[in-house]
Amino acid sequence: MELLKDKIEQEGKVLSDTVLKVDSFLNHQIDPLLMKAIGEEFANLYAEEVITKVLTIESSGIAPATFLGLTIGAPVVFARKRKSLTLTDNLYSAKVHSFTKNETNDISVSKNFLCADDNVIIIDDFLANGEAVKGLLDIAEQAGAHVVGVGIVIEKGFQDGGKMLREQGVRIESLARIKSLANGKVEFFENGEF
Ligand code: 5GP
Repeated sequence: MELLKDKIEQEGKVLSDTVLKVDSFLNHQIDPLLMKAIGEEFANLYAEEVITKVLTIESSGIAPATFLGLTIGAPVVFARKRKSLTLTDNLYSAKVHSFTKNETNDISVSKNFLCADDNVIIIDDFLANGEAVKGLLDIAEQAGAHVVGVGIVIEKGFQDGGKMLREQGVRIESLARIKSLANGKVEFFENGEF
C-alpha cells in the first residue's frame, strides 16, 4: 500500500534492527485519513468473505480494526490485556508474550462478544513473532468461531511470525512488508519478492 509505505518512510523511526516506531500515525497519534484507507484496503482484500466480527488487541490494533468495521459494517471486539473488574468469569483468555515489552500478558475477550456463529477477521498493527495473532486465534478457537484470515498493517518479514502462521495455513494479508531495519534504514519487500 503506497500511501502507508510513504508514511513509514517519512515518519517512521528505526529504534533498532528489529523495532520501528510509528507513533505519529498509528501507535500514539492516529492519522484518521490513513486509517480510513487502511480499513478500506483490508475490506477489499477480504471482499469475498462474509465477516461478522473484527477481532483485535488493545491498544494499537483498535484504530485500523475500527475503520475496517466501519467499512464492512461489522462490530469490532478488542482483547483486553488486563483483567477488568467488570469482566469476571465469562471470558475466553490466552497468554501473549510481548515482543516490544518482553513480558507475558493474559489477554481476554468476553464470551458475550464472540460465538460459534462468527466469521472473524483478526487485525493488528504489527506482525513480528506472531504471538499476538496466535493468542487471538486461540481465543477465536475457544469460541468455536471461524477465522477467515488476518490483516496486518506492518509486517516485519525478517521475524518469524508470518512464516510460522502461513505454514499453519492461516491467510495473512499485510499492507506493508519490511525486509530489513538494518543501519537505521527501512527497506521494504518489492511486490512479488515476499
Ligand atoms: P508479535 O506478537 O507478532 O511478536 O508482535 C506484534 C505486537 O508487538 C503488535 O501488537 C505490536 O503492538 C508490537 N510490535 C511488534 N513489533 C513492533 C515494532 O517494531 N514496533 C511497534 N511499534 N510495535 C511492535
